[in-house]
Amino acid sequence: MLQKPALIDIGANLSNRRFHADLDAVISRAKEAGVAHIIVTGTSERASHDAHALTQTYPGYLSSTAGVHPHEAKNWNAQAARSIEKLAASKTVLAVGECGLDYNRMFSTEVQQRACFEAQLQLAVRLQKPVFLHERDAHDDFFALLRQYRPQLTGAVVHCFTGNTDELRAYLDLDCHIGITGWICDERRGDDLRKAVKFLPKDKLMIETDAPFLLPRNLPVRPDDGRNEPMYLPVVLEAVAAILRISPVTLAQQIRKNTEQFFDLLTTE
Ligand SMILES: [Zn+2]
Repeated sequence: MLQKPALIDIGANLSNRRFHADLDAVISRAKEAGVAHIIVTGTSERASHDAHALTQTYPGYLSSTAGVHPHEAKNWNAQAARSIEKLAASKTVLAVGECGLDYNRMFSTEVQQRACFEAQLQLAVRLQKPVFLHERDAHDDFFALLRQYRPQLTGAVVHCFTGNTDELRAYLDLDCHIGITGWICDERRGDDLRKAVKFLPKDKLMIETDAPFLLPRNLPVRPDDGRNEPMYLPVVLEAVAAILRISPVTLAQQIRKNTEQFFDLLTTE
């Protein structure tokens, strides 16, 4: 029998309300598709608590991150910092984040974003847990802060990397891991990314869906509601494997090893 490669989705927003009604079915479909483990992204104080609660409902199959997304940086304060710190210390929380800078939509000011990001970098250093990073249209400021803290961090993954080859090389110089989403499947806007991925060392690569967002555009059958979910992770694997000209099964083994080491995660078959 052909074994499906066991994959780990390092970023799925399963506490998003679009999963409230049918999460059991979503998880079953993910398992059937060969997804062995999912790390649920925490994007706000509330979402991080919800993500952590989900890890208790699906023990062993779900882990989470705890952090505040740059969009939410305006809500960062002493109370939120304490709450995230407490949460991030728990065993099933594998990383601090998602945190970073996003100057694309500016839901929080640059000053708020930088303060919120820096506090979470410091938290990750204190807890000695890796950071799960988000950067959009803010490469220079983001890079400067990350470089400052990188020597003290245990690990850093730039999640949903969508940048160009120069940006990729800069992150690799800081010994970052790179998270690739279904953005790579987008013929209209994934061009820079597809070029950059060719320069990505295989041991720095991880994959994610960012569900319910970023539904791969190349699905043969598109769900009516346009919702992405972890069962589509193999589509991302196959897109990356095609660019790297390597078999998906071989690549999946490498990615799994990277992911388990990076998050200090021991999954079971
Ligand atoms: Zn993100």
